[in-house]
Amino acid sequence: MDSTLSAAAEELLKEIKKAFQETSHVPDDLLLGLKFIFGSSAVPALDLVDQRSVTRVTSPSGRTAYQVLGSSGKLYTCYSSCRFCTCPAFGFTVLQKSESLLCKHILAVYLSQAMGACQELTVSEEQLTSILLAEEEDEG
Ligand SMILES: [Zn+2]
Repeated sequence: MDSTLSAAAEELLKEIKKAFQETSHVPDDLLLGLKFIFGSSAVPALDLVDQRSVTRVTSPSGRTAYQVLGSSGKLYTCYSSCRFCTCPAFGFTVLQKSESLLCKHILAVYLSQAMGACQELTVSEEQLTSILLAEEEDEG
């Protein structure tokens, strides 16, 4: 399994960013591309972006994590640099079965970056560490 996003996926995200900067919306052909590449993660991820569910958390030293408020109301932590998410779907369909490139939360992070739709939150170094290390095993 390739550890980087496929070239097609990266190209698509770039196109979305460009289109969004120019027109403030994502054209239908790119939406179809999203659905084609990311399958069933595409629509829920777009919903998360619409609902402004993605927060970029940064500390004074520049460490960054993303928190995504899932549709169930649970907060997941995503690391876009190493493409990892704390949700159960990521563990199951991405890590164990290699069925997907990523979960809807990570896709929502990428889309929020492309569309400039991230909420911003600045926390202390200690707070960021506790966000990164928080391990809740609740049902997602
Ligand atoms: Zn996830």
